[in-house]
Amino acid sequence: MPPDVSTPMLELKNLHVAYGQIQAVKGIDIALHTGELVSLIGANGAGKTTTLNAIAGTLPIASGDLIYDGARINNLPAHLRVHRGLALVPEGRGIFTRLTVEENLRMGAYVRHHRSERAQIEIDMQRVFEMLPRVKERLKQVAGTLSGGEQQMLAIGRALLSRPRLLLLDEPSMGLAPLFVEKIFEVVQSIVREGVTVLLVEQNANLALKFSQRAYVMDGGCITLSGTGEALLHDPKVRSAYLGEVNAE
Ligand code: ATP
Repeated sequence: MPPDVSTPMLELKNLHVAYGQIQAVKGIDIALHTGELVSLIGANGAGKTTTLNAIAGTLPIASGDLIYDGARINNLPAHLRVHRGLALVPEGRGIFTRLTVEENLRMGAYVRHHRSERAQIEIDMQRVFEMLPRVKERLKQVAGTLSGGEQQMLAIGRALLSRPRLLLLDEPSMGLAPLFVEKIFEVVQSIVREGVTVLLVEQNANLALKFSQRAYVMDGGCITLSGTGEALLHDPKVRSAYLGEVNAE
């Protein structure tokens, strides 16, 4: 049966997430369709990272629904979400600094422990090397000695080794030199071309909107705007608030 493209791959319905008494996400609705690159932009503290962590299952949700592939996954443990093809590259990258680059990559495949997966894991390693040649050049190097940009590439490569169908990327360009920022966006595009759906949280709103089919703007725990990347890029409110244009309105 052909896939039903009208059914979202991921749906957040009236999702609330709190840290004790602090309401960080206040009832948001987001939908992602297979094959899309969708961005979530917004100021510091808007609730973007909290949203990604709730989707990945590293933070519990307070109320609302999280629907993935048509099933409610509100209470599914994080590692079982990885099994189902949902991978997060966290803010700060979360790589194992004392392990080598290769060891870090192989950790990404830890959910695929069945013997029948072994050959496919090696094929996927080659695929990651093609996409991230810089990672391949540094396979035996201790990951903590990589540059920030290289560590980000490694974190993405590691996530790809879990064979995600939906990749959640939290601020992948943060703190990187412009050349690396460009490279990261090229890598994200090639991941999408390979058929992986991507939800991208980005502080570089300009680039994020340029490359995304659709985007959501978050402010104070709520979604305040949404639309195509192109439309939001030209929206005066977005331009003045997030693209640094003082006289946009
Ligand atoms: P940034 O770009 O700064 O990471 P963000 O949009 O990702 O911002 P979040 O990190 O999701 O925002 O934070 C949303 C809100 O939740 C903020 O008010 C923040 O102070 C609060 N918050 C985040 N983490 C915690 C925590 N561990 N405990 C308490 N409050 C938190």
